[in-house]
Amino acid sequence: GEALAVSARVAPLGSRLVLLLVEDLTEARRIEAVRRDFVANVSHELKTPVGALSLLSEAVMGASDDPEAVERFAGRMQIEATRLTSLVQELIDLSRVQNDDPLEGAEPVRVDELVAEAIDRCRHQAGSKQITMAAGGTADLHVWGHRGQLAAALGNLVENAVNYSPARTRVGIAARRVNAPGGDLIEVAVTDQGIGISDKDKERIFERFYRVDPARSRATGGTGLGLAIVKHVAASHGGEVTVWSSAGQGSTFTLRLPEAGAARARAHAPQHSA
Ligand code: ADP
Repeated sequence: GEALAVSARVAPLGSRLVLLLVEDLTEARRIEAVRRDFVANVSHELKTPVGALSLLSEAVMGASDDPEAVERFAGRMQIEATRLTSLVQELIDLSRVQNDDPLEGAEPVRVDELVAEAIDRCRHQAGSKQITMAAGGTADLHVWGHRGQLAAALGNLVENAVNYSPARTRVGIAARRVNAPGGDLIEVAVTDQGIGISDKDKERIFERFYRVDPARSRATGGTGLGLAIVKHVAASHGGEVTVWSSAGQGSTFTLRLPEAGAARARAHAPQHSA
């Protein structure tokens, strides 16, 4: 309606200009809608654990003469509080990767260190499910970027691989250098033998708060923000993240990032005066 009214008003300026204006309006409106949806989603996601905490605290007060019940309710309060904490932490991470220029603090980052850190982060969970993690090809590879953001991105991919896999399966992390027209890239592929992702869901999993199975995601402490963070980090570093998956057979998430070539590494090295 509004866009049409504007186009009618500026029609004498020529149809090309009108088209541009209408496209601009549509884009501005789309961005505004995305922002509104995000705020609505955040509110909803925060309300769930806060609501549960409020009910549970009432239950604790009503059960003061039953120590076992108090303990049970307190345990559930702890779970909800943990969920709230990780949601807030992921929101902070997301806003950081969206607002900070990753290339401001960029440096050559060793791929073997990033991979070791990501594995460490999930060691406990993988151990309890008897999932084996194996990494290969990482020696002597360096990517160019913001260490903390890169660690968060790879950590999220490995964490998901463990979360969405059954017990006694394998998670593999393979790195290699690939030639590309604009300079070599480092490819890090995280492969699992988990539940997989359907074609329909593949297009949406990188959206904020999108989950294939919200109940399962919540049960494993998921927030629905992890892949949005990964996608943003990849793009802002001049790279990309892609997914290959076959439902029921597993998934491979591939992160491609610019290599920290010799020239960049030298430029960054501390200067020694003669
Ligand atoms: P979450 O916190 O729910 O894991 P993510 O943004 O990391 O949020 O992932 C979004 C959704 O994509 C998940 O809820 C899950 O349904 C799906 N997903 C992500 N990684 C995998 C994987 N390795 N295997 C199967 N499904 C996955």
